[in-house]
Amino acid sequence: MIEFKGVQKTYPDGTEAIKNFNLKVQEGEMLTLIGPSGCGKTTTMKMINRLVEPSAGEIYIDGKDLKDYNIHELRWNIGYVLQQIALFPHMTVEENIAVVPEMKKWKKQQIRDRAKELMQMVGMEPSIYMKKKPSELSGGQAQRVGVIRALAADPQILLMDEPFSALDPISREGLQKDIRKLQQQIKKTIVFVTHDIDEATALGDRICLMNAGEIIQVDTPQKLILEP
Ligand code: ADP
Ligand code: ADP
Repeated sequence: MIEFKGVQKTYPDGTEAIKNFNLKVQEGEMLTLIGPSGCGKTTTMKMINRLVEPSAGEIYIDGKDLKDYNIHELRWNIGYVLQQIALFPHMTVEENIAVVPEMKKWKKQQIRDRAKELMQMVGMEPSIYMKKKPSELSGGQAQRVGVIRALAADPQILLMDEPFSALDPISREGLQKDIRKLQQQIKKTIVFVTHDIDEATALGDRICLMNAGEIIQVDTPQKLILEP
């Protein structure tokens, strides 16, 4: 459902960030992108929602070239979670989650039901957390709200770029479990960037191993671990 065909990205300063990238991410799959810093993971993610344009090749979503999508329509259909999740500090958890559904003109009750449902899936009791401000949340809870906010308006695709890397190991492990559970229920197409092999194998249906702008191997965690 997301397909890269012969994609290359050379930045204006001559940096070849992506060289001949071919990859298919299946519908409902969680694919982890792993590789050392600077190998092109973020560039790959940014090309999916057209924050960065490829220098060559094509990217398709559901068989349609990204260039043929209306950019707003495309971005509404793709949730993006970053390492530094920036919740709006003056808004409550509920108001933060409501931002995109409100832009899409969802009804208040529908937004509230969706927020509650997603909060329960990641173990945050709505009656306790809905009215809290971001400053009253732990790091892990804030990241959960960030993930929920990205999913609130039911996008088809979720991009996550090292969303847990600022967390301590215990919080991180809890969040990995919750994301895995969440994914089993919502079945979104997810691309998850990490440079942590344990995280990549814990989360990915498949792992895409990158180095220096190229794909080294794409396989299930079992195969990657058994056949190093
Ligand atoms: P990763 O996410 O794996 O750390 P990036 O996609 O951020 O890798 O970067 C890949 C390469 O492209 C790196 O060498 C990086 O310095 C370079 N790069 C990233 N963004 C830009 C940019 N806007 N202009 C020039 N070079 C860039
Ligand atoms: P990452 O988390 O992927 O390592 P970085 O911290 O390397 O990201 O990059 C942060 C931002 O700076 C990104 O938007 C990236 O595109 C940009 N960037 C990275 N490398 C360069 C570069 N060599 N020249 C210009 N911009 C860059």
